[in-house]
Amino acid sequence: MKKIGILGSTGSIGTQTLEIVRTNKDIEVTALAAGSNIELLERQIREFKPELAAVWNPDRAAELRDRVRDLDVKVLSGMDGLLAAASEPRSEILVTAVVGMIGVLPTIEAIKAGKDIALANKETLVTAGHIIMPLAREKQVKILPVDSEHSAIFQSLQGGQQRALRKILLTASGGPFRGKKKEELENIQVEDALKHPNWEMGKKITIDSSTMINKGLEVIEAKWLFGVTVDQIQVVVQPQSIIHSMVEYEDGAVIAQLGTPDMKLPIQYALYYPERRFLPGERLDFGELSAITFERPDMETFYGLQLAFEAGRRGGSLPTVFNAANERAVALFLKRKIRYLQIPEIIRACMEEHRNILEPTVEEILKTEQETYEFIKSRW
Ligand code: NDP
Ligand code: MG
Repeated sequence: MKKIGILGSTGSIGTQTLEIVRTNKDIEVTALAAGSNIELLERQIREFKPELAAVWNPDRAAELRDRVRDLDVKVLSGMDGLLAAASEPRSEILVTAVVGMIGVLPTIEAIKAGKDIALANKETLVTAGHIIMPLAREKQVKILPVDSEHSAIFQSLQGGQQRALRKILLTASGGPFRGKKKEELENIQVEDALKHPNWEMGKKITIDSSTMINKGLEVIEAKWLFGVTVDQIQVVVQPQSIIHSMVEYEDGAVIAQLGTPDMKLPIQYALYYPERRFLPGERLDFGELSAITFERPDMETFYGLQLAFEAGRRGGSLPTVFNAANERAVALFLKRKIRYLQIPEIIRACMEEHRNILEPTVEEILKTEQETYEFIKSRW
């Protein structure tokens, strides 16, 4: 039995991870963590019987504790709860599927405890990649990508020589507003931005996909995962989401991973790496498939992507500012407090305001996050 913990078990990645556990029957769940959805968390606890459950919100944690009194499960709350869930002694792999920078400390805790990481939470690498990657090497733990593009890159690198990797071709669907110009995006409402053409995901990442800021975060994520510079990463728009990403080697060979858009494939691949297992679901039908098309990203309309390249190139604490400003701007947009096009405007203003710290410590990263939030609060 493989033993895993899941942070963010009630979300899109979390529930799909549990579907894989359900169909494979040889994974034991030792810890689950969520923000506040205790109704679903309770059902998960009853089905998967973890030893530990963590709920961010303390009132909701107390309520859950009461509801599962008949079971042998410890319920904790807050950051202590998340850290305990991340480092639960019996687990071998931690699936990090919380959304946002809240994932940084628990991921570090899990690596220190020797757990392999199945990493969905890209914001963690974006802000603390310079700490996470060396720590993982030191502790000899694997960072297994769950993000579909990064899993595709990882799969394309199997059997190859990472030394001979020349370029990463990171594919993007282009989101629901592909082909539109800035003027046409002025009146975009929350409902419009929440409609993704190919993938079903949590709200924050769906908005990030529509602004192409998700791709920007993925550029920085790929830089850390595969040890390349951001200038070795080319974003390629491939609207059908069939090619999940590609790598180009020194000799010009390009290797890609293709498939139907289903996050369960990268999740399962991370959990069983290097083994490949049967996964129920649709298959690509090359008799039916008419075309796979490519475009350059429109970095003027979607200039959040350009800002991500800049943050990734300059490094230090700037990617934290980029990420924190985006997290807050997206939250404000979802609450209908700002207009759609203000999301990249806010990020740009925050990046201009910031004095870059070159090798920020975790404390400096968290301080930068707070300062970014305060700056936004004072202006918007
Ligand atoms: P969701 O919004 O669907 O789920 C987020 C999860 O995190 C929920 O379980 C939520 O709990 C939990 N959570 C939020 N805040 C806290 C907190 N403070 N403490 C503990 N748990 C918390 O997000 P997704 O599953 O879509 O995304 C998760 C991560 O994976 C993100 O970083 C995203 O970028 C990345 N990712 C997602 C993909 C996808 O297809 N969805 C694809 C590639 C990457 P609750 O339900 O109680 O609020
Ligand atoms: Mg992705």
